[in-house]
Amino acid sequence: MKRLLTPREIQRWYPERWSEIAGNSRLVKAWHDFLQYGGTNMLFTGPSRTGKTRTIALGIMAAMCPHRSAKKDPCGVCSTCQQLMNGRESLNGIFAILAESKCSYFAVDCETVSVDELKVVTRDVRMESATTLVYLDEVAALGRRGIDTLMLKAIDETPAIWIASAIAVRKGNAKGNVKRIPGLSDPMLARFAVKEGTALPLEPELTAWIKERCKAWEIAIEKEEQTIPLLIKRSRHRVGMVILVLAVAASRGRRLGPDDVAGFDFQAAD
Ligand SMILES: [Zn+2]
Repeated sequence: MKRLLTPREIQRWYPERWSEIAGNSRLVKAWHDFLQYGGTNMLFTGPSRTGKTRTIALGIMAAMCPHRSAKKDPCGVCSTCQQLMNGRESLNGIFAILAESKCSYFAVDCETVSVDELKVVTRDVRMESATTLVYLDEVAALGRRGIDTLMLKAIDETPAIWIASAIAVRKGNAKGNVKRIPGLSDPMLARFAVKEGTALPLEPELTAWIKERCKAWEIAIEKEEQTIPLLIKRSRHRVGMVILVLAVAASRGRRLGPDDVAGFDFQAAD
């Protein structure tokens, strides 16, 4: 990244390369297999701010980009990549693109999509092929809203590839590998052959990642040996939470010290 990102941009930061993802090696592996061997429906679960959405966004961009690198990174500059980057800011109801990519893509915000919009998706997707990707963001919301029957039928009847995310509730351990997903029905769960939960990065990996991001975003870390361990501990290893702290640091003169971490209201950000 050559231009200095604004705090707002840091807060909304999405990785553009697989090497920019901390932890979540199983999610990355699932995407690499998908990009290598082709489609199977995939469901990604995990608590909030553990990297689900960011990993999915990168995976979809890599799947759609006609100029993917040997390392399976999207180019980031073609019109498909650009549309995907701009589109996720305004994901509301349905978002569809048909760009220079050979694939077509539909994103459905399951919290806000209307029944009429769902009917449009299921009708349009039905005409498409296995090069169509449909992303169901927070798929469990369909069940909670009592409208998942329509989608179950569409998943069964179309050759499209379905990617879904669901927030899992943490249970007991701090590994992020949790199973309980409120509102997700067994029939919906059964539609996804690949299911992966987020996993939090261990301290050495997250330490290296924080240093890397601070360098890229030109944030100076004061008292590094105190600041980084405190940040990891207080964020409970959640990368999405670390990003929020870095965004605040960027707005305060691009410096991050132990007092900033100690003073950050992690509960309010949760
Ligand atoms: Zn591209």
